[in-house]
Amino acid sequence: MHPRRQKKIINCVSILYYRQGACYYLSVSKIAEAVKIRDFKQEAKDIQAKLVEWRRWCHRRPGVGFAVEETADYIAARLEDWGVETERGVGKTGVVGIVRGSRPGPTIGVRVDMDALPIQEENTHDFVSKYPGKMHACGHDGHIAMGLGTARLLSRHRQDLAGTVIIIFQPGEEGWRGAKAVIDDGVLQRHQVEAIVAGHIGTLSPELTLGQVGITFGPIMAAVNNFEAWVIGRGGHGALPHNTVDPVVISAEIITAWQRIISREIPPLYPAVLTVGQIQGGSTHNIIPTEVYLQGTIRYFHQSAGDILRTRLEEVMAGICKTWKAQYKFKLDQGYPPVINDPQFTKFFRKIAASLAGPENVKVLEFPTMVSEDVSFFLQAVPGTFFLLGAGNTGTDSPHHHGRFDFDESILWLGTALLTETAWQYAEGKYQQCN
Ligand SMILES: [Zn+2]
Ligand SMILES: [Zn+2]
Repeated sequence: MHPRRQKKIINCVSILYYRQGACYYLSVSKIAEAVKIRDFKQEAKDIQAKLVEWRRWCHRRPGVGFAVEETADYIAARLEDWGVETERGVGKTGVVGIVRGSRPGPTIGVRVDMDALPIQEENTHDFVSKYPGKMHACGHDGHIAMGLGTARLLSRHRQDLAGTVIIIFQPGEEGWRGAKAVIDDGVLQRHQVEAIVAGHIGTLSPELTLGQVGITFGPIMAAVNNFEAWVIGRGGHGALPHNTVDPVVISAEIITAWQRIISREIPPLYPAVLTVGQIQGGSTHNIIPTEVYLQGTIRYFHQSAGDILRTRLEEVMAGICKTWKAQYKFKLDQGYPPVINDPQFTKFFRKIAASLAGPENVKVLEFPTMVSEDVSFFLQAVPGTFFLLGAGNTGTDSPHHHGRFDFDESILWLGTALLTETAWQYAEGKYQQCN
């Protein structure tokens, strides 16, 4: 419907209600609901206070990894209130909301992550985490609110919906392969999901300011593998090193040598990162310990860079340990693949984003980010788009995964509208029409 005609109808309805004296004020979304007019931008703005309420409820009660039962209960209760069919225990603790249209059509998945991090919150606002050592420090509490908002708006218009929208609230994004668990549980096959849309709020891209939507037509986030390593020497007196095999000195050499894989062996035009985030060993100044423990992460976009890193990390470690007569153990996890947007779907999404955020606020990112996300498993299975939504909070300069991280809640309506409108148009068959 032409927007002007839509507006005219809304005005007429307002007058009609006024004349009948049934009601002197109705919000645009209530009117839209009454006459089945969809305006997800306005309707999302109208539920902004609710979005904030849902976000803060979840922020107070963070769950880490798969231990997100309290959050899952809360989500399922809201979905059931709105008459949305739900599945529980998907991928251990995931919740799936199914909004079925009244006519046949394609099926799209909206993916939301709902886990928090093992960090002590340092914020002082009145909705800080109730649980010591656990905090929503990545913005997933905002994603939950956006997913609930999407379910709310779609369920209001279910009678007019063609196709089906599956809203997947997954656990364990932060390194637990929760997406894989949910997919292995059959959520995509069971519902014949053909495409996926998801987003991440916050400050992950320095190219985005508040309310700007960032997209790419290919890679947007890096692949990741995490590793653990143990250098096993022979302990002894700190004053008699010749009688020991010192794992501290050997570890220092290994850490330095590993960086040379990045600078000397990976092609310079292939972005790659190697970070040793933890080193533990020893107990005091004059004891050479038996063992040093190292833990770290590698990030990359190109398969060949990943192959070099995965092979050479252990080879370099083995070589140095052999030279200095130490033993070692090395463990590399299966990791996440890179997040790669489907160019065709992203074209479709860009148009929708421009209509909601304004074309000037939709940016094709010059650089992807070295951060990783397990939404990559969904995007390996079906085409789709993972977008970034700028939500920097001027009240804090703390980055994601920091005890003082916070995002600007004013973008919650926009995130909701982006997910809702994309899901609606896809389920209506608009994506197939534009291809
Ligand atoms: Zn995170
Ligand atoms: Zn995150």
